[in-house]
Amino acid sequence: MSDTRSRFEVVVVGAGPAGLAAAAAAAECGRRTLVLDATPWLGGQIWRGREAKGGPGSAKRWLARLQAAGAAVARQTTVVASPGPGVLLAESPEGPREIEWEKLILTIGARELFLPFPGWTLPGVVGIGGLQVLVKGGWPLAGKRIVIAGSGPLLFAAAAEYRAAGADVVLIAEQADLARLVRFGLSLPRLAPGKILQAAQYQAALLGVPYRTGCWAVSAQGADRLEGVTLRSARRTWTERCDVLATGFGFLPNLELPRLLGCRTENGAAVVDDRQESSQAGIFIAGEPTGIGGEGRALVEGLIAGFAAAGRPERAGRLWRKRRRALAFSRAMDRAFALRDEVRDLASPETPICRCEDVPRRDLEKYGGWRAAKLHTRCGMGPCQGRICGGAVEKLFGWDAASNRPPVFPVSIGTLREPDPRPSGASD
Ligand SMILES: Cc1cc2nc3c(=O)[nH]c(=O)nc-3n(C[C@H](O)[C@H](O)[C@H](O)COP(=O)(O)OP(=O)(O)OC[C@H]3O[C@@H](n4cnc5c(N)ncnc54)[C@H](O)[C@@H]3O)c2cc1C
Repeated sequence: MSDTRSRFEVVVVGAGPAGLAAAAAAAECGRRTLVLDATPWLGGQIWRGREAKGGPGSAKRWLARLQAAGAAVARQTTVVASPGPGVLLAESPEGPREIEWEKLILTIGARELFLPFPGWTLPGVVGIGGLQVLVKGGWPLAGKRIVIAGSGPLLFAAAAEYRAAGADVVLIAEQADLARLVRFGLSLPRLAPGKILQAAQYQAALLGVPYRTGCWAVSAQGADRLEGVTLRSARRTWTERCDVLATGFGFLPNLELPRLLGCRTENGAAVVDDRQESSQAGIFIAGEPTGIGGEGRALVEGLIAGFAAAGRPERAGRLWRKRRRALAFSRAMDRAFALRDEVRDLASPETPICRCEDVPRRDLEKYGGWRAAKLHTRCGMGPCQGRICGGAVEKLFGWDAASNRPPVFPVSIGTLREPDPRPSGASD
């Protein structure tokens, strides 16, 4: 068999919580399973970079379970296309790889949603999750004044992490109103009792840090880099001096690969049935691409997908109750952190919306949709391929910025060569 072509009964793309659970479940059922990830780590966004240090308890347990189950693992392997039915094309440090699958599980996570405002491209303005990734990689934050402005529970996790890295967290600004957050808090004992302890831990870690609800950043100022951020609440508008502004308004499911493979999506998420199977037979989807729901939802959906793909629907069925609770928690989170109209429309005519191609709002709003705007301005055609501005134009103009064209990530020309026509198993 060619070194660059391999075949597995179950292939799992993405090794975050959903992917680890899916691969462990499928391998435990005796299926020849491969789990691959674009990064050098296992554990996805939440546990990334923690593998060597052992990671938090749940990460350790899932990594041990995966290892015991005997699934094959491929790191730094990014799926970029599907050159034919049942085949994925991936880029790896050793070159291109073609991977044949009998059942495919997509657990490819989500990305942050950024809403542009004047000054959002100044050096010093960063994504909340992006900064976490930098901190996990050792980025120095000691002594830096940080304002965190955006929405969602990630604000707490990130603030605690920045503070532990020595940052001076000046303010956490949450755009959602207090009344919604109180209702969300009251639902926790019923929907996610484990989160109460987590919330108490964050509260202890963030003692003395102001948390303002119904408050958002309207602009960032600075000559060559960030010097301050102007914030607004119902009562006032004021400026905080800071070195770093971490911003982000929740997450958007990654849907390029499901769409490329013909899987149906609706309201910005992949559509799946009770077994996590997509509209394409044999392709299962779990975790953030089916809707944002955190680690708990990702794990239970991953297990269901793994058991279902391995032909053990009865084991998948035993987890449905747990998933129902996770889905109810997701819905409660959506209601609590729903975006207020004011934060969708902060960009001025000069504000860059596509930062890769430097396209300001005024150049975009004369077009009626994403396709025309792209063709005329190159919006969404830079290195991020619309991963950042696509979400922004959806919220700003209501455009559908979906993409289903290969390659789903930028790749080297060598990776896009003609695929090997021989079936796997043919000798070299
Ligand atoms: C930047 C960021 C930071 C976050 N930080 C936290 C946090 O601190 N605390 C918290 O509770 N939640 C955090 N979250 C949310 C967290 O990711 C989810 O709650 C949950 O853990 C998602 O699990 P998942 O397995 O669905 O996805 P993920 O954990 O996102 O895993 C998806 C994996 O798929 C891989 N992947 C994607 N596309 C491909 C491809 N084409 N080929 C190969 N691999 C691919 C990615 O590299 C990634 O490792 C963060 C999310 C993001 C985006």
